[in-house]
Amino acid sequence: MADYKGVLIFSELAQGKMMPLAAELLGIGRRLADELGEGVSAALLGSGVGDVAKELIAFGADKVYVVDDPLLEEYQNDAYTTVLEKICKEINPSIVLLGQTLVGRDIAPILAFKLETGLANDCVELSIDPETKAMLQTRPVYGGAARATVVCETARPQIATVRAKAMNPLERDDSRTGEVISLEAGLEPSMLRTRVVEVKKEQAEGVRLEDAEVVISGGRGLGSSEPFKQLEDLAKILGGVVGASRAACDSGYAPPSYQVGLTGKVVNPNLYVAIAISGASQHMAGCSGAKNIVAINKDPEANIFKEARFGVEGDWKQVLPSFIDMCRELIG
Ligand code: FAD
Repeated sequence: MADYKGVLIFSELAQGKMMPLAAELLGIGRRLADELGEGVSAALLGSGVGDVAKELIAFGADKVYVVDDPLLEEYQNDAYTTVLEKICKEINPSIVLLGQTLVGRDIAPILAFKLETGLANDCVELSIDPETKAMLQTRPVYGGAARATVVCETARPQIATVRAKAMNPLERDDSRTGEVISLEAGLEPSMLRTRVVEVKKEQAEGVRLEDAEVVISGGRGLGSSEPFKQLEDLAKILGGVVGASRAACDSGYAPPSYQVGLTGKVVNPNLYVAIAISGASQHMAGCSGAKNIVAINKDPEANIFKEARFGVEGDWKQVLPSFIDMCRELIG
C-alpha cells in the first residue's frame, strides 16, 4: 500500500465548464491530502477543456491531468472509465473521489471493478483515521434513517462518490500554482461499445433543484396539481425552486423531475419547506442535509415534525396563503 499516494478527484464538466461539485471535491481532497502529508490532483477529461485546468488549480489542485480527445467530448462510459483507469494505474492515488452525480455513479463502480478495489457511494463525510491512515467514509443508510462509516481495509485506491454540497470548497485563489500534465487518451472508436445518439435536455429555467438555496416542496396532501401554483409563488418570493414528494409526482401533481428523495434528487438548501409531506425516510434521504426544515402538516404525529426546525400544525389551505402573504410583506 506504500506505493499508493495522494488524492485524485474526477472533475466532471457541465457544458464544458467546471461543476461546483469539483471545487467541493478539491476542498475535501485538499484536507484529506494535507492530513496524509500528500498531494491532490484532478483528472480533467473532455474535448477542448484547457482553461478549466487553471480553475482546478485555483480551487486547490497541485496537479491536473488533462486528457483532451474528441472521443471524450460527450460522456461515454467505456471511454471515461478506460481513461480514468489508465490515470489511476499511472499515478497510483490512495484515494479517488468522484461526485455523486449521474456520471459519477455510472463511472465509480466500473472503475472500482477495473482496479479491483472497493467503493463507498454517496458519502457525506470523509476523514482520515489517525492510526491506520485509511479514509473513513460516512454515508447515509436505510433510506437516510442512519449513517454508516466504512473503511476500505486492504485494497487501494479507496474510491468514494461524494454528495453535492456535503463538503466545503476552498476559496478560489487564482495566484495558486500547480502543474498541468497532458496525457494521451489512447482510445480507438472501436473500443467504445455504446455511443450517444441524442441528448435530451430537461426543460428547466433558472437554478437546478440540486443547487437551490431554498426549496419549497409539496406532497400528496396537496390533493392536486393546482396548489403547486402557490408553491411556485412562494418559491419566487423566497428566490427558490419547487420540489415534490414521490407520492405527489406519482399522483401527477408535479413532474417527475421535481422528485426529492432516495429515488429522486438530493437537495441541500438553507431552507426546505415541506408542505403536506409526511416525512417518510425515503423522502428525507433527499432533504435531510437541509440546514432548516419548515413543515406544514395537519397531522401532529407526522414524522416531518421530528425532522423540522419549525413546524406549523394545520391545514395547508389555511396556513399557506397567510404564510405567502407574510413572506411577501417581509421580503417584498
Ligand atoms: P403521504 O405519505 O400520503 O403524506 C401526505 C401528508 O400530507 C400527510 O402527512 C398528511 O398528514 C398531510 N396532509 C394531508 N392533507 C393535508 C392538509 N390539508 N394540510 C396539511 N397537511 C396535509 N418518496 C419520496 O418522496 N421520494 C423518494 O425518492 C422516494 N423513494 C422511494 C423509494 C422506495 C424504494 C420506496 C419504497 C418508497 C419511496 N418513496 C419516496 C415513497 C415514500 O415511502 C412515501 O410514500 C412518500 O414520500 C410519501 O409522500 P407524501 O409524504 O407526499 O405522501
